[in-house]
Amino acid sequence: MYLQDLLTEEQGVFRDTIRRFVNREIIPVREKLEEDYALVEAIHQKLVELGIQRNGIPVEYGGTGPASAMIKAILCEEIARGDAGLSLSAGSNMGGSVLKAAVAAGNRVVLDRFMPPFAGKKLHYGCLAMTDAAAGADTENPLLKGRGISTRAELVGDEWVINGTKSWPTHAGIASVYLTVCTTAPELGDEGIALIYVPGDAPGLSFGRPERKMGFRTSINASIFYDDVRVPKDYRLAGAGQDSQFYHGIISGGQWHSALISLGIAQAAFDIALEYTGERKSNGRPVREWSMGAGILADMAVWLEMMRGAVYNYGWMLDNPDSYGPIFSREMSSKASIVRIFSADAAVWITNKAMELMGSNGLSPDFHLEKYLRDVKVLQLWLGGQQVSRYRVVRGYYDYERTT
Ligand SMILES: Cc1cc2nc3c(=O)[nH]c(=O)nc-3n(C[C@H](O)[C@H](O)[C@H](O)COP(=O)(O)OP(=O)(O)OC[C@H]3O[C@@H](n4cnc5c(N)ncnc54)[C@H](O)[C@@H]3O)c2cc1C
Repeated sequence: MYLQDLLTEEQGVFRDTIRRFVNREIIPVREKLEEDYALVEAIHQKLVELGIQRNGIPVEYGGTGPASAMIKAILCEEIARGDAGLSLSAGSNMGGSVLKAAVAAGNRVVLDRFMPPFAGKKLHYGCLAMTDAAAGADTENPLLKGRGISTRAELVGDEWVINGTKSWPTHAGIASVYLTVCTTAPELGDEGIALIYVPGDAPGLSFGRPERKMGFRTSINASIFYDDVRVPKDYRLAGAGQDSQFYHGIISGGQWHSALISLGIAQAAFDIALEYTGERKSNGRPVREWSMGAGILADMAVWLEMMRGAVYNYGWMLDNPDSYGPIFSREMSSKASIVRIFSADAAVWITNKAMELMGSNGLSPDFHLEKYLRDVKVLQLWLGGQQVSRYRVVRGYYDYERTT
């Protein structure tokens, strides 16, 4: 079955619209984006005008109501075909960014305070402040059950007082709201996990300078410092125990988002190599007419289509929770990690093969491929990396609890 057979008519129209948008607004300037964040923001603003940011926000807050996972899949795949960092931000921003968890939890205090601007006509960023500076992947390691989190939240009267340092969160310094992963007491494990919303202008909150990095240069990362940051106690997402479930769901959503970006990058690398090898000649024949070249392109297509099947299959499962369970379940968490690990490795492999087919010209920005090669590596490193993600995989099959 082809992917278009899985999509509704409305989703098909959405895909055509976004595909045209990417071809018109992103592909022609993809080499310039890394040097000019104003250009990046202008594209995000156009996506807001297309209704992406409010897509999925509850109607009572000015949005469209629930959005299907397939819409997010189409958005992220297509935009990543143009630029990975843009896809990361656009996919996060869709539906109110980090406030989606507050919608799921029904936290009206948080929604009333932070959601209205996201349903408006201006671009807004949210930030998932998860990775602790000292703990790194421990923050995301499910085996540690929250014991690896070092950012502390203490309830003092009616306020949470937060202290700690996060490193690498996307949109740090430019977001209006920070969903901060804290612990009330590491020894409480999962029960100690507290997800707390912090406004971007909270006293005691400060930021490092944007990280310089090899890839994903079109999205901003920086350290976040919490120095006795105080927020009302109702800014906690849901409560002890429930927050840890939401945290697993957020990480699964992130793993799937990572897979969607992998797919878009791999498609772009394949498209570039296919075109180039049709034009570049060896001994008078296009490179892709030589059996070695055709074989490499065939292998790339195999990995690409297997990846697409896996990625959209997970989207289908997300859209059918009655059959497959909630996103925070061990089974769905395991499947999200399977799709993420496979897709990241496949995208790295495909992009490397594209580079081989292009020879030295692949290294030149004029031939468009090199930026995808720089971007693709990140997909194996973030969200706890490929190793910690494997712990999530096995936990879907047996009670793997080892912590030493
Ligand atoms: C572009 C980009 C965007 C990001 N966006 C965000 C964001 O929005 N929010 C946020 O909070 N963070 C974000 N991060 C941070 C990212 O999620 C972390 O860097 C990542 O989770 C791993 O942490 P670390 O780099 O400190 O790795 P480390 O903890 O230093 O780990 C190093 C290596 O050891 C492996 N390892 C660690 N523990 C174990 C173990 N127990 N068993 C086996 N192997 C292990 C890891 O997989 C990795 O390979 C982003 C990072 C990048 C590059």
